[in-house]
Amino acid sequence: MTDHKNKSGFFIGVTCPGCGSRLEMEADFFVLTCESCGSVLRIKMPEIPPAYIIKNTKSRREARSFADRYLKKGSLPLTESGVEIKMIYQPYWKVDAVLLKVRNRVEERHVYYAQEYGAEQDVSYEKKLTDINLAAYSMTHSAGVEDDEIPHSIGMKATYLRMEPYSQDNIPDDFECLPVVRPWEQVIKNVEQGTARLNEINPAAFGKNKTKLFHPIASIIYFPYYIIESNSNQGLRRLIVDGVSGSVTSLVNNCQPREMNALDSSTQIEFGNLDVELHRCPNCGYDLPGKQSYVYICDNCHQLVMLETHPLMSEGINAVVGSEYQNDRLFPFWSMKLPDSDVGVVRMMFGGIYDSDRLILPAFRSANFESLFKLSKRMSSAAPKMDYISIDVFDRHYEPVTMSLSEALVMAEVIIYRAKVGKTSGENCEPEQFLPIEISLMYAPFHLESYFYVDSVLRAVTFEKNLAG
Ligand SMILES: [Zn+2]
Ligand SMILES: [Zn+2]
Repeated sequence: MTDHKNKSGFFIGVTCPGCGSRLEMEADFFVLTCESCGSVLRIKMPEIPPAYIIKNTKSRREARSFADRYLKKGSLPLTESGVEIKMIYQPYWKVDAVLLKVRNRVEERHVYYAQEYGAEQDVSYEKKLTDINLAAYSMTHSAGVEDDEIPHSIGMKATYLRMEPYSQDNIPDDFECLPVVRPWEQVIKNVEQGTARLNEINPAAFGKNKTKLFHPIASIIYFPYYIIESNSNQGLRRLIVDGVSGSVTSLVNNCQPREMNALDSSTQIEFGNLDVELHRCPNCGYDLPGKQSYVYICDNCHQLVMLETHPLMSEGINAVVGSEYQNDRLFPFWSMKLPDSDVGVVRMMFGGIYDSDRLILPAFRSANFESLFKLSKRMSSAAPKMDYISIDVFDRHYEPVTMSLSEALVMAEVIIYRAKVGKTSGENCEPEQFLPIEISLMYAPFHLESYFYVDSVLRAVTFEKNLAG
């Protein structure tokens, strides 16, 4: 057994194209080194939603004893000898997104004034407050035929259980894979409607509350269940047992036998495949560093290699001049030049201190979107006051680019919307597509001062230590 305790996120098993070994990776990791043959590998995610499978860890016999234990606890007769056990894989959609919440509330405040002769006067007034929060959002929902006995969601299991890419070979012969009947567009629509309903639960004290999903990404997860049917004195009795934990998720008495194969395979949706390729410089074929990044400089030929290209991306990379500290870390930022029409709007949103035609976004990932927003705001204000030189080699001070350009473009949209909402308490604004006119990558030096990284040039931009991982 491999120890998963030190890892976070979900795990995916893939095969090394170099030696055929089985490899395990975390979902967000797209570069890994094969321990058997030393090949550096890169995972390419598909354009359409991929499908994964969570293998059962309980055998048929174990599933039945879990069912019996459950029945015994409820003082019910145990499963009979004529028991029939079917095994299914139920499909679930997993949706990951960024969620923006705007909550307008009114707080009553009291101020006490000491008056002459010792008397006190209590003055109360109301203060309008707008809480805005950006957070990571993740949910699972059944993708199969409507069924009250099978759980509608697998909840947190989608974040800690090991998964493998779905393929026919991965499905044991005695398991039946149930078809995906709900298109993912419909699931996302339902999620959006669900989040919109959150606004009604918490009505706004003024203006409008808003809950908005950005950049939803879908994948399918097949989860194993045992269906245990036997005849009792109350007719046909059916138990559904979770194939991983062994817990009983439903018990029905006096039911009809379950119809299997009710749907023909033509309704099945097509899934994307994860490709595994060698992680090499496209110019000279030399292995690229095995570090997780979207941007590399080849150690051998010094060519700049970007895993994601964009027509607006400028050629070179810049770094801020004036790193004074030995232990500076150079953090990457996406610098996006705004069209003239947007400059004024962004300036107004970001406040008077903002004096630039560029929006600067962190090029490293964090689940703390609210902090990324604040850092982006501070960096956008500070960047025009710094000087830059072009660089052609990364040393150990340079941090990897873990937020891709496509993710950054979505973040830019979220950030502009987040700033707009902050100015209007959520009233009358919709997100707009953000169209920069030029994009470049730049690095700025920061050093650690207790719990914060402080920029080493202006000493004006700070962010929490844990944001950088
Ligand atoms: Zn290998
Ligand atoms: Zn090269």
